[in-house]
Amino acid sequence: MTTMDTIVSLCKRRGFVFQSSEIYGGIASCWDYGPLGVELKNNVKRVWWRDNVTLRADMVGLDAAILMHPAVWKASGHLDHFTDPMVDCKACRRRFRADTLDEQPWTHYCPATKGNKFEVAAGEPCRHCGARRTLCPECGKGELTAPRQFNLMFKTFMGPVEEDATVTYLRPETAQGIFVNFDNVLQAMRLKLPFGVAQIGKAFRNEITPGNFIFRTHEFEQMEIEFFVNPADTLDGRPADEVWHERWIEERFAWYPRYGIRREHLRLREHEKEELAHYAKRTADIEYKFPIGWSELEGIANRTDFDLKQHARASGKALTYFDEERKTHVVPYVIEPSAGADRSVLAFLVDAYREEEVRGEKRVVLRFHPDLAPIKIAVLPLLKKRPEIVATARELRARLARRWMSVYDDTAAIGRLYRRQDEVGTPYCVTVDVQTVGDAEKGEAGDRKVTIRERDSMEQIRVPIEELSGVFGEMFDGAAWRTVAGRYPPAKG
Ligand code: ATP
Repeated sequence: MTTMDTIVSLCKRRGFVFQSSEIYGGIASCWDYGPLGVELKNNVKRVWWRDNVTLRADMVGLDAAILMHPAVWKASGHLDHFTDPMVDCKACRRRFRADTLDEQPWTHYCPATKGNKFEVAAGEPCRHCGARRTLCPECGKGELTAPRQFNLMFKTFMGPVEEDATVTYLRPETAQGIFVNFDNVLQAMRLKLPFGVAQIGKAFRNEITPGNFIFRTHEFEQMEIEFFVNPADTLDGRPADEVWHERWIEERFAWYPRYGIRREHLRLREHEKEELAHYAKRTADIEYKFPIGWSELEGIANRTDFDLKQHARASGKALTYFDEERKTHVVPYVIEPSAGADRSVLAFLVDAYREEEVRGEKRVVLRFHPDLAPIKIAVLPLLKKRPEIVATARELRARLARRWMSVYDDTAAIGRLYRRQDEVGTPYCVTVDVQTVGDAEKGEAGDRKVTIRERDSMEQIRVPIEELSGVFGEMFDGAAWRTVAGRYPPAKG
């Protein structure tokens, strides 16, 4: 199993993710996406948008502001209920979420073994004295305070005066921007139920225990859908909201394997009755087998008509839909698939990571789906001392870059260059060599053919330069390597 340390170190070394403000010693749980990370994350967001908005006739998009009227958070319930129970250790002052304490291993000075120190597994009693954790899980010595409710919203002030009247919040979820715009979107786009509104944007939570790299941070990006359904409708004799909830669970569960996540690393977890948010009729989480264990990647909730009703009540504006067939106004139910862009990036990275042995040497490869790979094509000169080779390679990169993220690299020997591209998941390398350009001094013409090398099979074919665009167009449109490679002769590797 790939460890988090392996991924964190690869991310730093190869420019995916850096610690924020690192030269000042860093700031806890804030991360910056580097040159390859920003490409990867943009690609994750792009395919999500394409599949959930562009390709669907029943979806539209929105990009609401992060700062909203503070009344939004009162009506949505966030001011009163968006809290986690927090406890402090009286000795070491560390802080924990009270509801997850039993999920953490704990340090124990066992009286039955003259005070020897043990690490005891999460939720287990001590093997020697049978004690259960009552003290701080970290230092094992301090008593914990009684739980206090801690609101996770970041508070700030709008304008130059820091007073109560100017308090506002950084949004803790993108969803509310969709609910308060329900009528605007409905009227502007003349939509008919069922329809959905999608949004990608930053959200902020003052998490008590952030950590595990980009899994849980204070600032993160969500990819959310609010899919509105007429609660009076039925489908196959069942309430339409329940059927649409199932459809969205299936659709979202199938989405991750479509982009390379192994099916056995995903599972669905139903929320128990007691665990359900007060507004939810049913919630199912898609969980991924992260290096830290099975954890939530996306939640899919049936939020009923709670949010629209709350905002209608608080704002005094009707947030309803006119049901032409029944000649009545209804408040739609809403199905909410809510995914994290950063958690998805982490899952795609972890799942793509492979260590292989090739001719007695270790090869690290990120087997990204081509749509997600930060660099699509690397153009490499076999000899950087030959100006015609370099010029052809640079010119090729410029041409390919108009359609696909392409790079040129001549900073090492070819074997090394291939390994570097494998390690960042580049699906194809194009190599320009002596045969491509010929040798003017000897009066030999080049064949104007280049080598394409495929990342996973490491197979190489020889393709005329004029056919490169067509070949890549086909492959990035989904054609299998084997289908395309079968039409060209293998290159001498
Ligand atoms: P958790 O139980 O992990 O705190 P949650 O149930 O509070 O998550 P939701 O409110 O359902 O999370 O948010 C939807 C999605 O947003 C999550 O599935 C996750 O992918 C992402 N997300 C939530 N909080 C964070 C965070 N602090 N850092 C990164 N991503 C997050």
